[in-house]
Amino acid sequence: MSLLGAHISVSGGLHRAIERAVALGCEAMQIFTRNPLQWHGKSLSEGEISAFRKALLSSGMKSVVSHASYLINLAGDAHVRRKSVDALKAEIGRCYQLGIDAVVLHPGSSGDAPPMSARGALAASLREILDGTEELGVPVLLETMAGQGGLLGSTVDELAWVIDALDWDKRLGVCADLCHLFGAGIDVSTEGGYERLVSSLSRHVGLDRVMCWHISDNKGGRGDRVDRHAHLGEGGIGIVPFGMLVADARFHDTPVILETPKDGPGDAGNLALLRKLRGSR
Ligand SMILES: [Zn+2]
Ligand SMILES: [Zn+2]
Repeated sequence: MSLLGAHISVSGGLHRAIERAVALGCEAMQIFTRNPLQWHGKSLSEGEISAFRKALLSSGMKSVVSHASYLINLAGDAHVRRKSVDALKAEIGRCYQLGIDAVVLHPGSSGDAPPMSARGALAASLREILDGTEELGVPVLLETMAGQGGLLGSTVDELAWVIDALDWDKRLGVCADLCHLFGAGIDVSTEGGYERLVSSLSRHVGLDRVMCWHISDNKGGRGDRVDRHAHLGEGGIGIVPFGMLVADARFHDTPVILETPKDGPGDAGNLALLRKLRGSR
């Protein structure tokens, strides 16, 4: 069974996120360890670290992942890359301190640069980050993107290219985002489409590297390169792949994280739907 969870607010303190996730019955969760729209985050205090670790230990939560800052662009110009490398190293440090299992990263944007040179820049940045945080061991999961604005990672093939450029480093994985893959043009709305996606992941990166899933429906159509999250079943994707994913034995113990809007049915409603689809309750 996959681990059902959601992106949870850390408002009021990091440990509060665990309380919220427990109240929702989450088996896994994703948080921001810092404001994702700012470069500089203050370092964590001993008190914050111990409160989080204590709450985590008593929660029964099976997996916690962090989502890196949205500002990070490891494929950007020299100035942005420098700041981004430092920011991701700091994020990995915070994950290590908090006992978080992995960090999910938007691979970056090529901007005006040709995609191949941007890919090379991304690989070089990741090399520096992995080498500089070797003893911390926290995996970095490259998220699949919808491809808007020159975003790298809109194909599984491109993520595989980056991982290959880093000699299949054991700390590199993939976060497969169904909303983004659909926006990038991959048909995930049918049983056949879902199976083709999984075999593509298996062929290009191997399923043991798919260490996290993000799920939400997409308000846009397939291939629109739109990244607008909708409640499960309320967009172009429909419900089929979500039901298949949460019951898929190939993703046993893999976090499946809701990134649906917080309004309407909210996390509680979407989680209830997933549990029903999984047949666990
Ligand atoms: Zn993301
Ligand atoms: Zn998105």
